[in-house]
Amino acid sequence: MALFQKILIANRGEIALRIQRACRELGIPTVAVHSTADATAMHVRLADESVCIGPPPARESYLNIPAILSAAAITGADAIHPGYGFLSENARFAEMVEAHGITFIGPSPAHIRMMGDKIAAKEAMAGLGVPLVPGSAGVVADIAEGRRVAQRIGYPVLIKAAAGGGGRGMKVAADEAGLAGAFSLARAEAASAFGNDAVYIEKYLDRPRHVELQVLADNAGNVVHLGERDCSLQRRHQKVLEEAGSPALAPEARAALGARVTTALGKLGYRNAGTLEFLYQDGQFAFIEMNTRLQVEHPVSEMITGIDLVREQIRIASGEPLGYGQKDIRFSGHAIECRINAEDPQSFMPTPGQIAVYHPPGGPGVRVDSALYAGYVVPPYYDSLIAKLIVHAATREDAIARLARALDEFVIDGIQTTLPLHRRLVEAADFRAGDYTIHWLERFVAQE
Ligand code: ADP
Repeated sequence: MALFQKILIANRGEIALRIQRACRELGIPTVAVHSTADATAMHVRLADESVCIGPPPARESYLNIPAILSAAAITGADAIHPGYGFLSENARFAEMVEAHGITFIGPSPAHIRMMGDKIAAKEAMAGLGVPLVPGSAGVVADIAEGRRVAQRIGYPVLIKAAAGGGGRGMKVAADEAGLAGAFSLARAEAASAFGNDAVYIEKYLDRPRHVELQVLADNAGNVVHLGERDCSLQRRHQKVLEEAGSPALAPEARAALGARVTTALGKLGYRNAGTLEFLYQDGQFAFIEMNTRLQVEHPVSEMITGIDLVREQIRIASGEPLGYGQKDIRFSGHAIECRINAEDPQSFMPTPGQIAVYHPPGGPGVRVDSALYAGYVVPPYYDSLIAKLIVHAATREDAIARLARALDEFVIDGIQTTLPLHRRLVEAADFRAGDYTIHWLERFVAQE
């Protein structure tokens, strides 16, 4: 039985290609949607069919729900994969897709909504026995309440947007004197970025690692985890390089966290792929949020488990059982991903423009997920991620050697990219030793 007749991919760039590749291997035709700025993009060239859904700005194209639903109706697509970003965590979109008799490849709208509200997500997880970062019990209404919370948990504190994402609407207050300013700033940023100024407060951890757990769940309540990813190397709360597994985690800690999380998600009745993000400090995990979608960094988990996450998302959405349990998942070797952005490696300003030369690396254990080609013009309208370089080897040391070699081979000319930053990073002694926290990269970047 075919899983789906045709899948519409409501995204662009490397992730649209990634999903097309999984569909093609499953024998499922795909529909690409694109803005007028993306008419010559690789995801359009490689699709079986394509539909233009609007002008360049994302809100008029990749976020244009009526246009996407019309494209699905016209082409006869019976499922939609949202990728990451854009509409992937929009519960209303998932509902509308299903109301049109089309399968949304992802979790239920109710779970998307619950986890999209970070306060509701924390409450749900706490109720299921998952440990949290100490903080306010819910929304902090005003500065006076903020002051009481901060006094209870102790400074420094972090003020965060309830509707947050992409590291926006987050401000640190080092002490009581700084609280009022940080509180107002966080609120204003949350209001302008998310149209919702609700904020909450957490203890600001001084040296945590960002460790997240990848899970897969089918409709019959089978839940497995694919191990952790360490995404501590961040700039402005945005991930730059990710590894699986974490250099800081022993296999026993992974198994204990995994058991706790899979039990919790089983109770919740969660389905499809998801990621629980934790801060890990002094041997303790503290939940910060759950992402109800495929993540940019999913390939490192694929490399160490041999499981194709997109294929599994499609199979689960069609109603198939996982067909394997936790004991069947074997972790093998170490994987690292570099996010290569069209940005000036010093100022991090976006550098859209034409790619003159494109030569991706190859050889054993090297994977490049990218929609680039020579002559392609990187448009100025979207995220600056243009390629992901993923390496896999038997040990972390071998993976680093492989990464250094692959970075040397990689040629992207015509625009500036963050390749030089990654080349510098793989040589750094702290990185090689696995000795870094979420604050490390910010200082490293400043050293230039
Ligand atoms: P977003 O949804 O905006 O990405 P997250 O809650 O996932 O926000 O946090 C993003 C990053 O911000 C984390 O990976 C971590 O580096 C940092 N961060 C979040 N909460 C805390 C905290 N309580 N203390 C220190 N750093 C934090």
